[in-house]
Amino acid sequence: MRHIIISILLFSVFLLVACSDSQQTSNEVEDDNGEKTEQEEDVSNQEKGTSTDEKDAENDTAEEADQQEETAKDPVYKVDQETSSIVPIDQDSDTNEKVVLLTIDDVPDENAIKMAETLKEHNASAIFFVNGHFIETEEGAEKLKKIHDMGFPIGNHTYSHPDLTTLPEEEQTEEIVSVSDRIEEIIGERPTFFRAPHGRNTEHSKQVVEDEGMTLMNWTYGYDYFEPYMDAEKLKQAMITGEGPEAGVDYSLLKSGANLLMHDREWTSEALGDIIEGLREEGYEMVDPDLIQTKKNEN
Ligand SMILES: [Zn+2]
Repeated sequence: MRHIIISILLFSVFLLVACSDSQQTSNEVEDDNGEKTEQEEDVSNQEKGTSTDEKDAENDTAEEADQQEETAKDPVYKVDQETSSIVPIDQDSDTNEKVVLLTIDDVPDENAIKMAETLKEHNASAIFFVNGHFIETEEGAEKLKKIHDMGFPIGNHTYSHPDLTTLPEEEQTEEIVSVSDRIEEIIGERPTFFRAPHGRNTEHSKQVVEDEGMTLMNWTYGYDYFEPYMDAEKLKQAMITGEGPEAGVDYSLLKSGANLLMHDREWTSEALGDIIEGLREEGYEMVDPDLIQTKKNEN
């Protein structure tokens, strides 16, 4: 526990140093820093009200019908809002606890399509967290559509990747809702999950996320935004072992339910297939995000 607190402090310091960016272009040391920097802010959004929900409006093609079938799966996991881990809803069930969730943030930039293809090749899924500024253009919209058509769940990661805690409430709302609007324009449905840039939420942003019917999640570990791990081989080791000594984590964060943060980056894309296989060799199953309880599938 002390370890964790220390690491949070270390990560927080790193975050202050590393995160002077706002409009991430690409390989700046990324933002989404610090595993669980935000835990204390991460109030449970477990009690879920009825939401703006899925009216799966325009689902005509067979492809989309398939996805609808996917989303109709009964959830067996949920997001533990204190730790951002993925845990069985029913602790007494025989649901496999030894799972990890893959997530990819700052999408769709240059590598997202390739990463989606790699996931498919390895028969694994992941949540893709989208920034609105990437999907303004037709090209960006096409990428998002393709990722969605490949069956991957889409998350909202704000429009311009700001630290929400620095913005007035109306701007926080705009940063979140405008992206969901644009995503809906492109894929015909609103995003299911929300992850705040830098993991930093406010009471207001959490309320907007709730009102929008999204499930909030941070992550438990990730290394691709630390300079020493901007290298496929080193990143692979760190992700599979859970240890990132060069980022101040000299013990393993890999455990059941780990929520793994990765980004749309070249080195991450290169390492992705090996990360999946390495985690499987360690005995972990990549959890199907469609089996995670959200406001859309809980009933
Ligand atoms: Zn991010």
